[in-house]
Amino acid sequence: MRLILFGPPGVGKGTQANLLAAEFGIPHISTGDMLRTAVSEGTELGRKAKAVMDAGHLVPDDVMIGIVREVLTSPRTAKGFILDGFPRTLQQAHALDELLRSLRIADVGVVVLEVDEEVIVRRLRNRLTCDTTGKIYTADADGLQPGSTCPDCGGTLVQREDDKEETVRKRLAVYHKTTEPVIGYYRAAGRVICIDGTAPIDAVNRAIKSILGA
Ligand code: AMP
Repeated sequence: MRLILFGPPGVGKGTQANLLAAEFGIPHISTGDMLRTAVSEGTELGRKAKAVMDAGHLVPDDVMIGIVREVLTSPRTAKGFILDGFPRTLQQAHALDELLRSLRIADVGVVVLEVDEEVIVRRLRNRLTCDTTGKIYTADADGLQPGSTCPDCGGTLVQREDDKEETVRKRLAVYHKTTEPVIGYYRAAGRVICIDGTAPIDAVNRAIKSILGA
């Protein structure tokens, strides 16, 4: 399976990508996760990306294209991949097209998960992340709050800086301004399939697989 997964922040792209990656034994390439790892490891990339990410802005195209090129030319993506969070701009989409062409890869599905924006703001405001394992919890549903102990590993649950409401609204605005034209680009090529992201997790998972004939 080769898939580019689109959708606004908080729509559940990560959840769906992780499920598919496990089922098909292929890597889930989340550029957001890669950047967060770089930040937590304090690498040069991480130091540069942190302020940009915390402000809800986009990391420069050339940096992102370099990162994705390295992954897609490595043997671990030979059987397939799920791209989550990339491409986010037209320049990234053009670079990805060129890269896939040079690798003679043509069978890449493009799926957009759709959801009402107020649902997203509520979801992200409510999202807690374990500072040790990255496991995600829902504050209301799980009876937890920032600073609670992770029920799984004893780590501390935190609200990601970019999950705060003000930043979420900024990320949604960035999504509309920069990423929607990218979806339009794939739509013009007749390649976009839209799926209701508010459906239950397993229903969304089945819908993606059936659409891709997987
Ligand atoms: P995400 O977890 O995908 O929402 O990404 C978190 C943050 O990482 C974004 O708000 C951006 O600052 C940065 N980021 C992730 N992917 C990209 C990308 N393809 N291009 C530019 N910035 C990105």
